[in-house]
Amino acid sequence: MTKQRLKATILATGEEVLRGELTDSNSPHIADKLGELGIDVELQLTAGDRPEDLKWAMQTLLGRSDILVISGGLGPTEDDLTTVVAAELAGVETFFDESSWQQIVSLFEQYRIPLSENNRKQAYFPLGATILENPRGTAPGFELPLELDGEQKWIIALPGPPAEMQPMLATWLTRRFPGGENQGDLFIRLLGIGESTLAEALEPWSARWGPVSYRVQFPEIQIKLYRPEPAKAAALCDFLTKNLAPYLVDFSARTTAELFADYLLENRLTFAAAESCSGGLLSKILTDAPGSSRYFLGGVVSYHNDIKQSALGVDPKILATEGAVSESVALQMASGIRSRFKSDLSLSITGIAGPDGGTPEKPVGTVWMGKATAEGVEAKLMQMFPGRNRVRGAAPFHGMHWIIASWLETRRARYRSSLSPGISSAPQRP
Ligand code: ATP
Ligand code: MG
Repeated sequence: MTKQRLKATILATGEEVLRGELTDSNSPHIADKLGELGIDVELQLTAGDRPEDLKWAMQTLLGRSDILVISGGLGPTEDDLTTVVAAELAGVETFFDESSWQQIVSLFEQYRIPLSENNRKQAYFPLGATILENPRGTAPGFELPLELDGEQKWIIALPGPPAEMQPMLATWLTRRFPGGENQGDLFIRLLGIGESTLAEALEPWSARWGPVSYRVQFPEIQIKLYRPEPAKAAALCDFLTKNLAPYLVDFSARTTAELFADYLLENRLTFAAAESCSGGLLSKILTDAPGSSRYFLGGVVSYHNDIKQSALGVDPKILATEGAVSESVALQMASGIRSRFKSDLSLSITGIAGPDGGTPEKPVGTVWMGKATAEGVEAKLMQMFPGRNRVRGAAPFHGMHWIIASWLETRRARYRSSLSPGISSAPQRP
């Protein structure tokens, strides 16, 4: 029997969130992570710290879903009410968990913070709940199964601070859905194509196979097929390979940046960046990944022409005659950084991000990139859609994509041939 897709709802709690004093970043994060697993998010609400509102919100949301994920309200203060309201809704008492309490005590000792009697509150949980450890803070979360109108439901309560909530959510999702992403769903990443253009290009395929879902994560876009038949998944991969190959990243949810790191690690390569218009964004993106020092040596933001000369050895005559945004400068920046940093690979980015600085020959959005390897150096011209943030934000992705293009192609072909006989099963209920 095919199981129905799991439905989830999300509740953000706290007066600060309700009044707009604090932007709710927890709910979008939770929705995103659930969506990646093919769990449908039906509804999101925000409730302040009044117990009657919290109860109404929890009840309403659980009425619409199998799983309710709550963030906030697990702290020690009077207004932290998630535990008591959840217990009330489930019709259970709360219990004191000695081992959670000991963890809270030792955390306070470690940071030499005086412990107050209030903190004991954080070691109380609804009876029947499984405690979710909080390695980064004092408020553990919990998973509480409960029956509502004869149906089995689950409340997942997580603390408010994003730095605590996010890893706890990740741990919970990995435990509950151990197969990770792509459990029966097909994710496809593309770069440099807009949603409407993509939808139009897909029309012939959709006419036969039906609609796909899109998720835009600038500058990338993700297509999702929920639990497709193997033939349908294969048909989509083939259609995209035939018609939209230059935009394809991967037949998975992995981003260009993640894949770029995979590529460098897999091939034991080191990398250095010479950036101008991207202002260090490429280096930022690479160093977002913990452990990136294994492959990323460093970068130079050579914004001023003097620095292009002094730090990267770009020829001043070329700068004067061809301009900073030119093929020759991109080539010299790439080979300059590679030889100075002694990296296996390098990438340079020099472009006109705007709003000023464009000319008829080199309009805003003109970007030259260079890549240098032991085999030599190459340049590539890109004309990007104008908009300072768009140009700067997209250029590093296009650069990484360019470097790993043939590796990606092989990876996609491997995935495509693994598609038959079928994709594995759907997420199981908690
Ligand atoms: P604490 O033990 O820190 O009190 P808590 O689980 O009780 O944790 P809240 O008191 O609701 O959580 O919120 C604590 C802090 O977490 C808030 O001040 C805010 O900085 C952050 N936070 C809470 N909810 C959100 C949210 N929805 N989006 C982003 N940040 C949030
Ligand atoms: Mg609190």
